[in-house]
Amino acid sequence: MPVDETKRRALLDAIVETISAHAEELTEIDAAQGDGDHGLNMKRGFTAVMSKREAIVAKPLPEAMQEVGRTLVMTVGGASGVIFGTAFMAAGKALPEDPTRADAAAAMDAAVAAVRARGKADFGHKTMLDVLGPVAKALRDPAADIAAAALAAAEATAGMQAIRGRASFLAERSVGGMDAGARSAALIIVAICSAMGDRA
Ligand code: ADP
Ligand code: MG
Repeated sequence: MPVDETKRRALLDAIVETISAHAEELTEIDAAQGDGDHGLNMKRGFTAVMSKREAIVAKPLPEAMQEVGRTLVMTVGGASGVIFGTAFMAAGKALPEDPTRADAAAAMDAAVAAVRARGKADFGHKTMLDVLGPVAKALRDPAADIAAAALAAAEATAGMQAIRGRASFLAERSVGGMDAGARSAALIIVAICSAMGDRA
């Protein structure tokens, strides 16, 4: 099944819906360790994306994803705009129009590499990278449940000490709560999986 315009619209709507439905939760998670604006930041970014919804979904998947990324970078004030925007742009650039699971794994690798470079972050630093990495790995295991892997990876950031992002200012006090960006990344992955249906 190709990722046609209807599918692209369903993908985008699923992402926006979950960010919107969880905005307060994301802000609460960020409030515990950051500055309590992550839900608002993500919502602002995806509201801007939705203002261009039809123009975006009219484009082939790689271009559509890159446009989502550019819009996030331009409209979200927080670190997450650059970080999530970079991830969407890099993944979009790496994807073919009709990706297989292996293509999705390669695109996730590209997103990981771009975020590592842009955010100077690595695995274990308690950021959204700690979701993207495990998701790339799950995509390479045909038996793995990608959505479940993403949610578990976000939960696992609770046990990490933040090395990047505002939570790093708290040093050892950053251990205990999930990373807000990791939770967002997991929600986005779950939304993509459900919109892709049996292909995910
Ligand atoms: P801000 O930190 O500017 O308030 P947000 O609250 O919207 O921005 O987003 C914070 C999230 O962004 C963090 O939870 C983390 O997942 C991610 N993040 C922040 N800095 C980095 C970085 N250097 N590398 C990767 N991810 C980062
Ligand atoms: Mg914040």
